[in-house]
Order: sequence, then structure tokens, then C-alpha cells
Amino acid sequence: MTGDLVRDDVLAPKSAMALELRQGQILRVTSLEGSQVVDMAVWNLHNLREKLSTSYSRTRYFPLPGRSFRPRMTVQQGDWVMSGLCRPLMTVLTETADPPGTHGVHHRMCNAFFYASHGAGVRDGCFEQLAEVVRAYGVPPEDIPDSFDIFQNYPYDVQAQGFLVKEPVTKPGDYIEFRAEMDLLVALSNCPDDVVAAANAFRCTSTGVQVRSDPDWVRRPVLGPREWLLEQLRTRGIAAHAEA
Ligand SMILES: [Zn+2]
Repeated sequence: MTGDLVRDDVLAPKSAMALELRQGQILRVTSLEGSQVVDMAVWNLHNLREKLSTSYSRTRYFPLPGRSFRPRMTVQQGDWVMSGLCRPLMTVLTETADPPGTHGVHHRMCNAFFYASHGAGVRDGCFEQLAEVVRAYGVPPEDIPDSFDIFQNYPYDVQAQGFLVKEPVTKPGDYIEFRAEMDLLVALSNCPDDVVAAANAFRCTSTGVQVRSDPDWVRRPVLGPREWLLEQLRTRGIAAHAEA
């Protein structure tokens, strides 16, 4: 990662933080000891009602020519992180873990109900941690979107007819980088689950959070969802009007 370091933080185990990203800045999330999940929520900084949609992030992409539509199980390097208006909040630039795309993008974050219902007592989960750090931005808990659970190993198992919570594949130092496509509010929760499931291999550890600016980035106007779509079609040589 090149460019000027804007911030360099260590997110302690079982804690959360909120940060602002400017368009073009690059967020790197590093699993310092490996096997740690980080739940991420994202908002348009200038309109907090526009926020992350994991469903659109998984299922809205331009297929290769001749390929039919197939909703995907994950989001990985090269993909957009979309908002509920179906335009990019971020682009996944790089990820080092193998296999790529090992993230949870199918469920909401852990919360007090989750722990209590599994006999672990009433305790804070990622939801409560995130709610606390975005309160200063005037975001109420009910406006927190379903999260992008970075590094969560959460495959769907056809035989079991459900998702499996497996230990992450990340090794110490593995990271993922996102580029902000507009100014953003980002909240990150170092998942506190060390009792119910193997999400963090039953050991909660620290996460590195770095932001860099790209010296070559030229600030772009943020297009409305329809304008953005039309620009994408133009760039890709796809007709805006289907032939009858
Ligand atoms: Zn969690």
C-alpha cells in the first residue's frame, strides 16, 4: 500500500471504532494474529440513510459476456461493496487470505440475543459495540445495516441445509483493502465471540486498521444511481435500451 498514512490504529479485542474515509482513501484491515473476524458497517457520510447492502454487494455485478445471472455467495477482490441504492460505496482492491472472498455476507452480526439464546448470558455483541461507536454521528441502532463480516468463514452446507461457522482462514498479517468510492462513515467491530461459535477460533485478538490516501487520486463527482449505471453501460459498450 503506497500513499500517505492518514491513520494507523490497533483495534483491541472485543472493541469497535468508527472512522471517516474520504473518496479515494484506502482502508486496510489486518488480522494481526490471524483468525479474527471484523464486522463492518458502511454509510454515505453525507447521507446516512444510504448504507451498506450486502445483498446487492453479492448479487449486482456485470457478468462476463455470455454468462447467465448467478447470485454469488461472497464478495471478493475486484468487487464493489454496494449501498441500498445499488451504487458502489467501496471497491475491494486486494485481499491476501487464501481462498479469497472468505467473508460473511449472509447474516446480521452477533448481538445480546445471540449470546443469551446459546446459554452464554446477556452480553454485548458486534451489534451493541457498533451501536455505541456510531451514536456520535446520530445513527440510531435501528439504522445499522446488516454487516460485511470481514474474514468470517461461513460457507453454506447443502447437506446440513445451513451455514457452518468455521475458523477463519486468515494467518497473522493477512489483510484486505477497500477503496472508498465516496466519502464514507465506516464502523468496525472486532467480533467478541469466544464462547458460542468458532468464528474467531475461540480467541479474540487485535486488528490493525490503517487508512492511506492515494496521491494520484483525482476526486470525482459522485453520480446518482441511474447516472452511475448509465456511465457503466457506456464504458462497457452495453446498450441502454434492450433490442425488441
Ligand atoms: Zn460478532
